[in-house]
Amino acid sequence: MRRILLSFLSLVVASCAHEPQNEIDGQDTASVADMHANAAPLVVMIGVDGLRWDAIDRHNAPTLQSLAQNGMRPESMIPVMPTKTFVNFYSLATGLYPEHHGIVTNAPYDRAFGEGFVNQTSPGEARWWGGEPIWVTAEQQDVRTGVMFWLGSEAPIKGVRPTEWRPFDQNKPYDERVEEVLGWLAREGDERPGFVAFYMSAVDTAAHRFGPESEEEGEAIALVDQTIASFLDGLEALGLRDQANIIIVSDHGMTHTLQSDYIYLDDYVSLDGIYVPELEGRYGNSYHPFVQIFAEHDGQDMDAVYDALNGVNPHMQVYRRDALPETYHFNHPDRGADLFVEADLGRSIRLRAPEPQWPTPIPGNHGYDNREKDMHATFIGQGPAFPVGARPDSFENVNVYLMIACILGLEPAQTDGDAALVESLLSQSCPSFH
Ligand SMILES: [Zn+2]
Repeated sequence: MRRILLSFLSLVVASCAHEPQNEIDGQDTASVADMHANAAPLVVMIGVDGLRWDAIDRHNAPTLQSLAQNGMRPESMIPVMPTKTFVNFYSLATGLYPEHHGIVTNAPYDRAFGEGFVNQTSPGEARWWGGEPIWVTAEQQDVRTGVMFWLGSEAPIKGVRPTEWRPFDQNKPYDERVEEVLGWLAREGDERPGFVAFYMSAVDTAAHRFGPESEEEGEAIALVDQTIASFLDGLEALGLRDQANIIIVSDHGMTHTLQSDYIYLDDYVSLDGIYVPELEGRYGNSYHPFVQIFAEHDGQDMDAVYDALNGVNPHMQVYRRDALPETYHFNHPDRGADLFVEADLGRSIRLRAPEPQWPTPIPGNHGYDNREKDMHATFIGQGPAFPVGARPDSFENVNVYLMIACILGLEPAQTDGDAALVESLLSQSCPSFH
């Protein structure tokens, strides 16, 4: 029945696309509106790395501004801690805090595996990715999905990948990403995805290199804005624009870094006998908003390390894993560090020796306390599910999974989101939740 209904709807929608004048033709307006109201729901989630909550107000972003004006834009979206990319894009996908999904930093270390996440191979290994991303929920409930470069989409999580997915290719031009996603959406009937997502990194890159509020950040936002505009044009040409719910999300914000008064970890503690993943590898010898400290062997007493770091620098906090602030939900059983050492907003932790390969921190950075407004992210939702002009208070990004589940009528997996909040944001009861 579902198959027949969807085939019928795709014919209806295709006919709308070919006869756009019907939409303004008095006598057909009602019937076209009815058809669209009955069309299969569609969610498009677009991830814009590093788009701070206020960035579209500071730069020229006509498409994003228009989506916000015609949809819902909260004051800001609160990222999960630590405010890093992998952590937050995966919380957006799963509705879970890192303590439950396991991506507790960009390259988590797992005690049970005895190894750390490796960028070359780990993205495709299901063992790293806990919880249930929205595309898995959808596929399991017979809704097709297509995902272009979302963290987690390369692994068969619970044995399931999106129908369409691609290995990450940083250099794939944005217009090609858009064209390919539109190609998936051009399919007929139940072959057409009900959920698609794609990702763009340009804003994060520019804001790191030149700082937030820089001209270069503005240029990157303009590129992203134009890309989204051309995607929306493509949706329109497919006759899908009216039924599409567009969700623009970012993972975190960005702040200016102080170019002096660094926190030298090795002034306070010897690195012998402890493991600090941030200090390993390509970026190890550089500047960090936080570092995690693991005991090098089981049962090791970490009190001496804690005491050596606690209270010694007014711009650095050290937390034991069982005494993290209430808003930090990343103490995963196998991946939570024994100690979490955090710099104040804009400050950087480094080693005195050897001298870092870069002489100063990059001008923009993130990873700081998620209660700091500079770390807050962007959310814009526009489409039939979102109240026009709604400006709710800031909400946490773990609610986005439930929003998508509600819109697509999917029975959600267990999440850390708040179903009642999602229903109130969307001004509707979500039948699939009850
Ligand atoms: Zn970044």
